[in-house]
Amino acid sequence: MERFSINIILKEKEYAENVLKEPKLSKKPSYDLRIVAKYLYHVENLKPNQIYKRLVKIMEEKYYNFAISQWQDLLLNIAKHAKKRDLINIDYIPVTKNELLTIDGIKSKPMKRIAFTMLCLAKYRNMVNENNRDWINYDFKDIFRMANVTATIKEQCFMIHDMKALGLIKMNKLVNNLSVNVCYIDKTESEEVLKIDDFRNLGYEYLLYCGEKFFRCKRCGVLKRRTASNMSYCRECAEIVENQKTKERVQKFRSSKM
Ligand SMILES: [Zn+2]
Repeated sequence: MERFSINIILKEKEYAENVLKEPKLSKKPSYDLRIVAKYLYHVENLKPNQIYKRLVKIMEEKYYNFAISQWQDLLLNIAKHAKKRDLINIDYIPVTKNELLTIDGIKSKPMKRIAFTMLCLAKYRNMVNENNRDWINYDFKDIFRMANVTATIKEQCFMIHDMKALGLIKMNKLVNNLSVNVCYIDKTESEEVLKIDDFRNLGYEYLLYCGEKFFRCKRCGVLKRRTASNMSYCRECAEIVENQKTKERVQKFRSSKM
């Protein structure tokens, strides 16, 4: 079974509809299924047992080598909990001038990306739960991945420690977990500079704002480094598009021979 790793989707309805349309599930099937289950509950008004049946069908269709024995407990659990949370529908996370001024003022380049990522995560948590008050609770490895920063566990701890020393964050000392309070969220409502609607590569979003060269995949929208002038698809999508073209060429060739 895959290890659960965080993946934040702002428009879950759209995401679920896409999962149902695509021939294959993503590399994080249980994450996809959790969103689809919420969709089946809130949009299609299905009951838990109906949701379970649909999830099994989706796995049979879209997951290579699906074995019910390995998935049954998880699928039952996902179906049962589908009603617990609403479908998230956030257009974008605004990042303001003052917030960027704080982040731009940090000396370390990787720390800037971590600070930007933590800011977006905290603002996201505030939008999902109005009682949140600027807290985040994610594994550091997930935060660093989203920030596009490669670092060992030791380096991660040093950087978090430095951010605390700079007064950028506070840590929850009462509970033995990784709760972080982000202290540089703009409460003055200064000018909105960035609209972040994709959490896959938040570090790149910040570097794009800094003027570095990136492109968004035409098919899945992911932000990737631009290494050539004519790039339009990420590697995964380029492969899918290429396969599609080959298929079409073969069909055309066949029909011309008839
Ligand atoms: Zn893509």
